[in-house]
Amino acid sequence: MNSAPNAPSSPKTAPPSVIPVMLPDVSLRARNSFGFDVLAEQAYSITDAEHIGAVMEAIKAANLPWRVLGGGSNVVLPPTLSGVTLLMDIAGQAITQQDERGAVVSVGAGVNWHDFVIWTLDHSLPGLENLALIPGTVGAAPIQNIGAYGVEVGEYIQSIEAYDCHSKTLVNLLASECAFTYRNSIFKAHPNRYIITRVHFYLPAAWSPRLRYADLAAAFVNRHVPTAEEVMVAVCKIRNRKLPDPKLIGNAGSFFQNPIVEKAQYLALLKQFPELVSYPEGNEQEGKRKLAAGWMIDHCGFKGLRAGAVGVYQHQALVLVNHGGGSADSVLALAKTIQDKVQDTFGVTLAIEPIRY
Ligand SMILES: Cc1cc2nc3c(=O)[nH]c(=O)nc-3n(C[C@H](O)[C@H](O)[C@H](O)COP(=O)(O)OP(=O)(O)OC[C@H]3O[C@@H](n4cnc5c(N)ncnc54)[C@H](O)[C@@H]3O)c2cc1C
Repeated sequence: MNSAPNAPSSPKTAPPSVIPVMLPDVSLRARNSFGFDVLAEQAYSITDAEHIGAVMEAIKAANLPWRVLGGGSNVVLPPTLSGVTLLMDIAGQAITQQDERGAVVSVGAGVNWHDFVIWTLDHSLPGLENLALIPGTVGAAPIQNIGAYGVEVGEYIQSIEAYDCHSKTLVNLLASECAFTYRNSIFKAHPNRYIITRVHFYLPAAWSPRLRYADLAAAFVNRHVPTAEEVMVAVCKIRNRKLPDPKLIGNAGSFFQNPIVEKAQYLALLKQFPELVSYPEGNEQEGKRKLAAGWMIDHCGFKGLRAGAVGVYQHQALVLVNHGGGSADSVLALAKTIQDKVQDTFGVTLAIEPIRY
């Protein structure tokens, strides 16, 4: 965690507010990266945190189910989303504090994540470059503590402004209160308690490139120390090579989390599968390992497999794709087949990463 100046932590009561217009029967085909045909029965575009209280009162009065949707790049949505879908569209980003030690940047939850990363670099604020090109919104980034190439977003979050559905107020949670761990946070553990409206990042002025991941380090062997922009460009190149572009082929990135196992289980697996790919996890004494789920799925022969309209991406077995005309049911059926085979082969349970509705 970075030593950042403390953000205010006292709850702020939302003033009475106007309710935005309810939008009936909204197609979310362009707002879910699988490109499934999805219809939201009722939707509200949330452009102002102060509107959330009134919307939530209306939802409660009508006793309807509800959920928040950012960019839809980490969800598996059914053909009809009943009740209310809150489309997170809060815009805007600004440097709110800056001194020789670093800068605090406050960003609306609806801002596109990659656009924000580029904006930080344009403002000479390095730190987030390893997380370039991750699809979705800034408000969703803390939910599963997005991570890539050895960096997790939680490391750079100072605090989070959210509507707390219990206290019915806007609250400010310090990063230390968000329980960030691998692909997890308090927000994921308690769905529908907090609606994230704004994220406050702390980007320290002291910076050096983080090249722990072999792919990224390989881009700079025998070269000068790269700038943050050069790291960002290298990350984008690697991602474009390995991951399918959702605009061209529907997907939600990694469909399974990399399982973390105890040292004894790892050593037993290594004996049986000497080529098993894995990474150290947590502190070295514990000896836990994060196993490469993609390698295990590939080993089971699924890479490139097609099951009707859906399949396993031919260049990365961790990614399930929609070739066109797929649905939540078809992709989840394929996921179950993969989970069962991996369980039988390795004795390891693969957890699904995207949120299912
Ligand atoms: C090609 C591809 C590559 C990817 N690569 C990575 C990667 O490298 N690392 C990684 O970690 N992830 C990766 N992902 C997953 C995804 O991009 C991230 O999880 C991203 O943060 C999701 O953002 P979103 O706005 O699309 O969220 P959505 O899919 O809209 O929502 C995801 C969840 O967050 C909740 N949510 C969204 N916004 C809010 C809010 N404001 N308040 C409360 N809850 C909210 C939703 O209710 C839902 O449960 C990838 C996805 C794709 C398609």
